[in-house]
Amino acid sequence: MSAQLDSPLSPPCPFTANDELRHDWTAEEVTALFELPFNDLLFNAQQVHRQHFDANEVQISTLLSIKTGACPEDCKYCPQSVHYNTGLEREKLLPLDTVREAARKAKASGASRFCMGAAWKRPSDRDLEKVIDLVKTVRDEGMETCLTLGMLSDAQAQRLKDAGLDYYNHNLDTSPDYYKEIISTRTYQDRLDTLDHVRQAGMKVCSGGIVGMGESRADRVGLLQQLANLPEHPNSVPINLLVKVKGTPMQDVAALDPLEFVRTIAVARLMMPKSRVRLSAGRNDMSDEMQALCFHAGANSIFYGEKLLTTDNPIANHDMELFQRLGIKPNGKPWVSDAEAQAAAAADGDTTH
Ligand code: SF4
Repeated sequence: MSAQLDSPLSPPCPFTANDELRHDWTAEEVTALFELPFNDLLFNAQQVHRQHFDANEVQISTLLSIKTGACPEDCKYCPQSVHYNTGLEREKLLPLDTVREAARKAKASGASRFCMGAAWKRPSDRDLEKVIDLVKTVRDEGMETCLTLGMLSDAQAQRLKDAGLDYYNHNLDTSPDYYKEIISTRTYQDRLDTLDHVRQAGMKVCSGGIVGMGESRADRVGLLQQLANLPEHPNSVPINLLVKVKGTPMQDVAALDPLEFVRTIAVARLMMPKSRVRLSAGRNDMSDEMQALCFHAGANSIFYGEKLLTTDNPIANHDMELFQRLGIKPNGKPWVSDAEAQAAAAADGDTTH
């Protein structure tokens, strides 16, 4: 008991006392969360997590690159930028049948949401029409839909909403201060404007960032402060760990302390208690133990599948094995073996096609 009294944020947890979502975080407050003793931070995050979610449930999304490479933007971490030579093979917009097949496979492997990414600065109205057909196709397969296509005008956001798109992803990437070190071809305000258009159109917002890009803790504070102080918390908050791709300016950046990554997840959970906090890119470089700590800190969504746009991701079977070891229910369903999942998918296919 005395150990608890020694710790300023030991029970009762101050975050669970007030159910109101906050949008007025100061940098000092967020820094104070990052500086908590690790055990106190995780304890508080876990308590808040349990208030709003089943602590043993993780939502699963799959991401497919529907148009790869040749992007005019210069995001320094990205192998799809035309500015860097990473040997990435370019691909035009995928045909509808290919996307339908990928969605069916993703559903059979246990994903509930199908995200499609295209390497554009912004979609042309002609491209948007084609993408809308893809969205309708994926919806017909019974999955939630998410797109990431770059910047959107308010009219484009409305068209996507009218087509039934559930989520739009547009990341803030990093803090406003560090942003100039990462991208020069679009501004931070451009990003905020796109998020605003998506929100105004009535779609759910998916927005997060990337850590481990050589930023300081103050920048991680700045990123989470921006996300939590949006008019509404993003429904999904992907926290990516930089994947260092050879040929990008970030290929040799120093690795982030894994425990600092876990802290970032826990602080995100405390600041945005009702949002899905997603482990996204970089999971391939995380140990099982680090991922388990992230789930304990409040992460409750993952990207699943062998590829994340263009970088490797842990293979689906390994994810399921980890869930089984941790007693985690993917999408709230009891864990099933791969063979059982395949059999169920086949039976489902018999009745619907
Ligand atoms: S992150 Fe997106 S916008 Fe930036 S270069 Fe890559 S594909 Fe283009």
